[in-house]
Formats: sequence, C-alpha cells, structure tokens
Amino acid sequence: MTDRDALISLVIPVYSEEAVIPALLERMTLLMEQLPERAEVVLVNDGSRDNSLQLMTRLTSGDERFRVVNLSRNYGHQTAVTAGLNAARGDAVITMDADLQDPPEVVPQLVQKWREGNHIVLARREARAGESIFKRATAAAFYRIIRRLSSIDMPLDVGDFRLLDRKVVDALSNMPEQDRYLRGMISWVGFQTAEVPFVREERAAGESKYPLRAMIKLAVNGLLGFSDVPLRLALWFGMIISMLALLFGVYILISWFFGGEVVEGWTSTVLIVTMLGGLQLLMIGVVGLYIGRIHNEVKRRPLYFVDPDTAARAAEGQPQG
Ligand code: UDP
Ligand code: MG
Repeated sequence: MTDRDALISLVIPVYSEEAVIPALLERMTLLMEQLPERAEVVLVNDGSRDNSLQLMTRLTSGDERFRVVNLSRNYGHQTAVTAGLNAARGDAVITMDADLQDPPEVVPQLVQKWREGNHIVLARREARAGESIFKRATAAAFYRIIRRLSSIDMPLDVGDFRLLDRKVVDALSNMPEQDRYLRGMISWVGFQTAEVPFVREERAAGESKYPLRAMIKLAVNGLLGFSDVPLRLALWFGMIISMLALLFGVYILISWFFGGEVVEGWTSTVLIVTMLGGLQLLMIGVVGLYIGRIHNEVKRRPLYFVDPDTAARAAEGQPQG
C-alpha cells in the first residue's frame, strides 16, 4: 500500500466541548494536510449539553473529510469511542480526546510506527502538564493496581490516545461486551504493539468531563472486567476466618477444661458477630458487582443508538437549529 492509498481515521469523542471545538477543528485540518495519507475525522457527539453539535456541523459543512456521528444521548467516553471506531473507515484508526490534551503533533509518529508494521501503537504519557497531583496520583495508582490484579499484560500510563490497525478495530467490534474498558480490551486482543512517548498537554479550553465519579466508574469497570481477584477474596477471607474461629474454639475448650472462666467475654462475642456480619455484607457486595455485570450483559442491548436524522443532516453539511 502506498502512502496515498491508505486512509487514516481520527476518532474524537465530544461531550460539551463548545469551548475547544474551533481550535480542535483547525488543528485537525492542519494535521490532515501534513499527513501524506488520506485522512478523515470522525467526531462523535456524545449527547453534548451545549452547542457542540451545531458548532461542529456548521464548521465542518462542505468538508468531506469530516463526519459527525450524533449519539442519541450521553453514553460516556468509552462507548463514544466505540461508536467512533465502528463509524471509522480507515486502514488505521486513531482515537484522541477533543480537548487537545493529546497533541495532534504526535499523530504522524503513531502513523510512522504503524507503517513499520505495528498493529497497535500506544501513546504513553511521559509527563502530564496541568493536571492536579490528585489526578496524577490516582491515575498512577490505578494503572498499577489493575496491572497487578488482572490476568493480562496491561501497559502502564497509556490512556485512550492510540492508533489501531483495521484488523484490531474489527476484532474489537467483535467483542460485544457492554461495560467497555477499551484499554483492557485492546491488551486482551493482542497483536503487535509499539509505544510512542508524549507529554500530555493541558486542556486547551473548557473543563474536564471526567469527574471523580466517572473516574471511579471506569476504574471499577476495568477491574471487574479483567480480574476475578475480588471474587476470590471471599474464599480467602472465609478460610482465614474459619481458621481463626477454629483456633478460638480450641482455646475456649481448653480454658473450660482447666476450669477457667468462660462466660465472660461479651465483648469478644459482639466483636466477632459484627465483624463477620460486616465481612459477609462486603463479600455479598463484591459478588453483587459481578452479578450486576452479568445482568447488564444478558439484556443484550445495543451499545448505543445514533440519531440518524442529525447524522444525515450533518453529512449534508446543513446546520441544524
Ligand atoms: N467525553 C465523552 N463523553 C463523556 C465524557 C467525556 O465523549 O461522557 C470525551 C470528552 O469530550 C473528551 C474525552 O472524552 O474528548 C476526554 O474527556 P476529558 O478531557 O474531560 O477527560 P480528562 O482528560 O479530564 O481525563
Ligand atoms: Mg482531557
């Protein structure tokens, strides 16, 4: 395949990013002109609450290289990226954030690595500009915990800025799981992987759309989807506590035998009962988390719906009111 034949797709999820959209589109246009390959940009509107959709459709109207996929509501980042991957037509697909934290200048390097025969090219954050210590610390801890607990080799410090070869994209679209943790899924499918280091920039404008709540949700999803260690904890706790109870029983018997005072010990009884109660509730909760996922899977709902009307209008390049 020569440079000119290949098509590169740039997939960008957008959730209420009004403030960065003009800058984003400008940078993407520039980027497409720099790339020797043909390129397209797939903008996925993830149920934005501001004028992002209107702005995107208006600013990209008439430019065939841009496409807007309008989801019917806010499904969340991972699903929005999935929708973009499904809509992308490229031989290689690059996913990146709308806020320009993933610098477009890194894209040619990703493409270069792909040209060298890699099927997954991950952008690894060497440093993060303008993110709070809390965010950096929690992210670092999370990557390390999930790596320890999961059965697959999950790379450290790579987010959702990456290039995927067509065959990886097709593999992912054959994974119908509902609770998507793309980083884990991509590690799971395997294929030849390379990395490119980069410095994560500050958000160009607007605010983070990842409140702590969403970060925790993503972390729990990643953990549950790729590890059954929490489930197995119940077994370990159960065994340890049964052992302790046995030892305690033996101790009581012996002290009774030698005429010790056995009836006192209200404190220890209450302590043990509450501890066991708490532990049982905790473990039922853990089991519940997994059952919740099963429940979510058996419903077999489509991952998302696209609003076809707005998509058609966007394709025609007409601003919608
Ligand atoms: N995003 C999305 N749906 C959401 C939340 C975020 O599509 O429900 C997009 C958002 O527009 C951005 C990307 O996901 O393009 C990453 O979000 P953000 O920059 O807010 O996350 P952070 O960089 O703070 O972790
Ligand atoms: Mg961001």
